Amino acid sequence: MFSDSKKYERLREEMVKKQIESRGIADPKVLMALRKVPRHLFVSEALRDQAYGDFPLPIGEQQTISQPYIVAEMTQALKLGKNDRVLEIGTGSGYQAAVLAEIAFRVYTIERIRSLYLKARKLFDKLHYHNIITKYSDGSGGWPEEAPFDAIIVTAGAPEIPEVLIDQLAVGGRMVLPVGDQYSQDLIRIIKDEKGIRKENLGGCRFVKLVGEHGWRDS
Ligand code: SAM
Repeated sequence: MFSDSKKYERLREEMVKKQIESRGIADPKVLMALRKVPRHLFVSEALRDQAYGDFPLPIGEQQTISQPYIVAEMTQALKLGKNDRVLEIGTGSGYQAAVLAEIAFRVYTIERIRSLYLKARKLFDKLHYHNIITKYSDGSGGWPEEAPFDAIIVTAGAPEIPEVLIDQLAVGGRMVLPVGDQYSQDLIRIIKDEKGIRKENLGGCRFVKLVGEHGWRDS
């Protein structure tokens, strides 16, 4: 019989092989992070055995932890280096922030729902993620006091790209965010250089809404 941690380690390995590598994610840092972060601890106990499935799961408050593949795709698209400071908007369960924290120097993550913010903060402490800084706030306007960031990831769908976030991106910085209506979005990557910004469409996706001053005004 496997102990629980062995069982989840085996499920994690299977997840990386069947859902991530097989779909073309090849950045060794991303694969390492997905092999390491105990995703089952970021969902409720009742959903633990489903945590490594190929789908999003509910985390309460009508919010979700994203499908493992989309976490991998967005993380790879950020082209993170070990000295990078990253801003995440939409902490949710905290799983994406933990994946980022395995690769980057420091992660700043903002959540607008207090119960989710508190739960994620507690888990980061428990798992010793000392390089994750949390904030309870509307994050649609970013975190100007800590800007500029080498990378910004928005894990909720915005009606359009918030200009204020582009302003908080360092020259050489990358931002990934879902943009579209509330039913479907395109995953957009923005790269900022000395000449300005470049936009790329990485394909379709579906996220819950980015609610706030620079997102959807209604919840
Ligand atoms: N990254 C999360 C994870 O790994 O579990 C998944 C995020 S979930 C799909 C989207 C999250 O964005 C929700 O928790 C939601 O409350 C949050 N959110 C939506 N609008 C926000 C805003 N303006 N500021 C901060 N968080 C926001």
